[in-house]
Amino acid sequence: MMTLKAWYTYVEKFVGVSGNKDGLDTLPDGDFLKPWESNVVEDYFSKEMKKHYKDRHVIYGRCAHLTESKPQFIEQGRGLCMSRRICQRGCPLGGYFNVNSTLIPWALKTGNMTLKPNSVVQSVLYDEVKQKATGVRVIDSKTKETTDYFAKVVFVTAATLNTNLILLNSKSKRFPNGLGNDNGLMGKYIAFHNYRATIKAKCKGFPDKTIEGAKPTSHYVPRFRNVYKQETDFLRGYAAGFGASPARETDIRGFGATLKKQLLETKETGVWNVNSHMMGETIPKESNQVTLDKEKVDSWGIPLLNINVDYDENDEKMIQDFFEQFTEMFKKAGFVNIKTNDNKRMPGNDIHEMGGVRMGKDPKTSLLNSWNQLHECKNVFVTDGACMTSTSTQNPSLTFMAITARAANYAIKQMKKGLI
Ligand SMILES: Cc1cc2nc3c(=O)[nH]c(=O)nc-3n(C[C@H](O)[C@H](O)[C@H](O)COP(=O)(O)OP(=O)(O)OC[C@H]3O[C@@H](n4cnc5c(N)ncnc54)[C@H](O)[C@@H]3O)c2cc1C
Ligand code: SF4
Repeated sequence: MMTLKAWYTYVEKFVGVSGNKDGLDTLPDGDFLKPWESNVVEDYFSKEMKKHYKDRHVIYGRCAHLTESKPQFIEQGRGLCMSRRICQRGCPLGGYFNVNSTLIPWALKTGNMTLKPNSVVQSVLYDEVKQKATGVRVIDSKTKETTDYFAKVVFVTAATLNTNLILLNSKSKRFPNGLGNDNGLMGKYIAFHNYRATIKAKCKGFPDKTIEGAKPTSHYVPRFRNVYKQETDFLRGYAAGFGASPARETDIRGFGATLKKQLLETKETGVWNVNSHMMGETIPKESNQVTLDKEKVDSWGIPLLNINVDYDENDEKMIQDFFEQFTEMFKKAGFVNIKTNDNKRMPGNDIHEMGGVRMGKDPKTSLLNSWNQLHECKNVFVTDGACMTSTSTQNPSLTFMAITARAANYAIKQMKKGLI
């Protein structure tokens, strides 16, 4: 049987992850493609932190961008990343891993995939006699027509919150509160990462240096608080990003030729901007819950999802600690004009939502077993962020993909044995 570690490697080989082998327990190494070069200030900060702290590492931010060609990427039809850093527009080269560039074309090649655009899943269908799920009910987003699709196994991976919504909305005589929700815990223990806190400063060193190109990643500081023992008055910890770029002074007033001339005459100021943002773990709590609205529905008649999630004292203390620790670290590196900011944005403006359909051994306290099957309806698998209440401070997608691949492999074996 493959371990979960082996499934991470399986995914990394397919996806293509560029990174360094850093040898840290807090962020285990993977099967990496070569990294981009760090810039001079990233390198400097990393070395300074090594000098001052045993446990604070500033490393290259691993990213799912192709820096090397390999047979599997050629087979996927993907090209190398050209370091243009406009990935959010969608990459025409398939330089970074995503569903459109990689997974859909790959699935199409099997000949077993039918793409059904404009399909909004309303619920999972449950057969009271067979005592299993039989498929999904889909509403066409344009015509609003309803169609039932039938399947032997259903994977619900609509991203954490929508997965909760679909399952809560999958009501039957057997499951009046949502599919598999006998214990009433579905929708509870929602967690996410807290991105409220940022810090910025100026670095006056290296005035004659600049950057080349626009690598699509910056640096990363893995968690260093409360790792081996509880050392603060808040629980858990945070990771952080770290970026450095040369500041430019540009006169952007005016139009046409004047503006062009000004832009071309831009002078380096000889100063670098540096910044960090916190990625804090929130504590999964029963009170952080999503529920179906009893009255309001969306354009397709599906109940709206009410999201009742908030920060607490632990999050506030963590933010203060990030400010104190990073101010100290920035000072030790000799950075000046240090400014901290709490943007106070609401939870939900952040990313990496998790929970609501959590895994566990005991059906009384969890909804999924260790293979991501609903305890009470074994041919339904939930493998996105809904299945876990927390990914600590790690960016979660690699874990979502590793457990999804593991669950898919398991589902095939179970089907072959006639067990689901
Ligand atoms: C700005 C931003 C930056 C991020 N950066 C990182 C990062 O650096 N590292 C990292 O690990 N993660 C990152 N994430 C998180 C990452 O994007 C998610 O963890 C990941 O996409 C989750 O995968 P998923 O398949 O569960 O959900 P998604 O990728 O959201 O896919 C769910 C799909 O289901 C569809 N869907 C939803 N509801 C229905 C329905 N009712 N019927 C039919 N289809 C439906 C959606 O349209 C969507 O296509 C970032 C997220 C954001 C927003
Ligand atoms: S930077 Fe982003 S958009 Fe540009 S080639 Fe690389 S992956 Fe594609």
